[in-house]
Amino acid sequence: MLKGKRVIVTGASTGIGEQMAYHLARMGAHVLVTARTEAKLQQVNGKLGTHTCTHKHGKANLTSQVVERCRALGAGSARLVSGSMEDMATTRQLVEVAEAELGGLDMLILNHVGKSYFNYFDGDVGHVQKLLNINFLSYVAMTVSALPMLKRSGGSIVVVSSMAGKVGFPFTVPYSATKFALDGFFSSLRQEFSIQSVNVSITLCILGFIDTESAMRAAADVLLMSPAPKEECALEIIKGGTLRQREVYYRYASTKLPLLLRDWAAELLDLLVRQRYRPERLRAA
Ligand code: NAP
Repeated sequence: MLKGKRVIVTGASTGIGEQMAYHLARMGAHVLVTARTEAKLQQVNGKLGTHTCTHKHGKANLTSQVVERCRALGAGSARLVSGSMEDMATTRQLVEVAEAELGGLDMLILNHVGKSYFNYFDGDVGHVQKLLNINFLSYVAMTVSALPMLKRSGGSIVVVSSMAGKVGFPFTVPYSATKFALDGFFSSLRQEFSIQSVNVSITLCILGFIDTESAMRAAADVLLMSPAPKEECALEIIKGGTLRQREVYYRYASTKLPLLLRDWAAELLDLLVRQRYRPERLRAA
């Protein structure tokens, strides 16, 4: 179903985003991947290719390792656009590149996430503001910019969120706030699309603990649960988006089932959540 489709994946230099790019490539999609750190995305084996920057130094001729691998895996085409999602101008430019180079868009996968701490809330309001810009406002801005193209193609928006965006988890206060905000914005927007018969689907993905490098580094010592594999997680997200599902739960049993408790026995769920943590293992702030 995705052969020849034009897809943007944000935050694709590592983790789940990177795995989504590879799955899409295998399916023959045209993939445009984004991330911030150019250095991280550069080829390791020395080959050069095309690369588009939206930041100050303009176009450069470098292809990322991820882009190179996407091509090798059979992508219809693969491109990289780098820039920080903290800057709203970047989000607009990313979408402009998609329009100019792909001639339209079928699926927008919003996945990137800014760095935060895994510890007790430290009272830093500036950090919450910054994280809201990266994890929430940039998702809104990209959606607004991409909407005309998505309306033309009858396309899909896929929003990668978390259990921390549905239930209060400790040690991720700023992150959790940004993920809850995504649910509010996109669930409300979905209702309006339905009323206005806008043929653009919105899929919100509720993920549990996934074995990406950053999540393992932050939480593996403290969490009493085993992580799910990022490759399978990436595939489930793509499937959900392609099938235009309202929400994706991965892994299903450890996300959907606790959520059934949320409204009926909130305090019990809070207790069960707290029991999954070993606060004594938190790193000193
Ligand atoms: P990850 O490996 O840390 O990847 C984050 C991506 O976002 C990277 O490509 C990073 O690239 C990019 N990024 C970070 N800051 C950015 C910025 N300012 N502007 C543009 N791009 C930026 O994350 P992950 O674990 O795969 O998570 C992917 C998604 O799944 C996130 O939305 C996360 O909330 C969600 N999720 C993950 C888990 C989990 O356990 N892993 C659980 C629930 C939900 P650069 O640093 O190069 O910019």
